[in-house]
Amino acid sequence: MPEMPEVDAVARRLRENASGEKVKSLKVLRPSMCRPQRAEDLEEAARGKTIKTIRRRGKHLFLELSGGVTFHAHLRMTGNIFTVPDSRFHSVNARAVFSLASGRGIVFEDSRALGKLQLASAVDILKVEDSLGWEPLDEAFTLEEFVSIARTSSKPAKIFLMDQSYVAGLGNIYVAEALFRAKVDPRKPMKNLKPTNLGRIYDSIRGVMNEAVESVYSAYQQPGSIAEGEIFPVRVYDREGKPCLICSRTIRRIPQGGRSTYFCPGCQR
Ligand SMILES: [Zn+2]
Repeated sequence: MPEMPEVDAVARRLRENASGEKVKSLKVLRPSMCRPQRAEDLEEAARGKTIKTIRRRGKHLFLELSGGVTFHAHLRMTGNIFTVPDSRFHSVNARAVFSLASGRGIVFEDSRALGKLQLASAVDILKVEDSLGWEPLDEAFTLEEFVSIARTSSKPAKIFLMDQSYVAGLGNIYVAEALFRAKVDPRKPMKNLKPTNLGRIYDSIRGVMNEAVESVYSAYQQPGSIAEGEIFPVRVYDREGKPCLICSRTIRRIPQGGRSTYFCPGCQR
């Protein structure tokens, strides 16, 4: 499932390869991805517009076109958006294709077809922005800011970090890795954590996300494959029953908020 680093890599590649291109036409191949909007309205809005830029916020993508037209995309479980040399050729999993005046194309590929592509008004964009918390790598996201939001929450550390309204873009894999690095038990309520633990979580979030953004981006040469966690060196995620790489205790898996949490009962207290 694409997390912030993967969505960031998608945005960076699109900015490099599609900014300034003119859209000849848009074909929505899976109209359910725009619901409740109509595919025809998206196709009409895109025609003849120039792609100005591609912006990421949390796990959301905004494709900003000329004429004040903005497309809001969410990749969900298996989505990916990338440019192809010829818009006529794309896989069976293509759900929407922008044909560019240059002959190239932008393909929204999505095997499970849970992703979303919709037109976004200024109000829609504000609503998304308002629903999201700090960008983990934003310079303004300081330790003091992190401590102040952590102090207000009695949620377990894992659940708190997954909540996009506090810190945006973290998902199951990177939260597991960040808490492992911070040596913090994922079940501990945030507001009960000592300042030293909060400091370690903050440093780990920034460290993990910095490394992930760079490693995912550089490894992300092959369009169509999102291999998060295979690129980033995971140390605890999906390692249930295996020995901890630091203390050799057995890595445990527990359910939290409907998802699996992996942690080392020896290192994370
Ligand atoms: Zn351990």
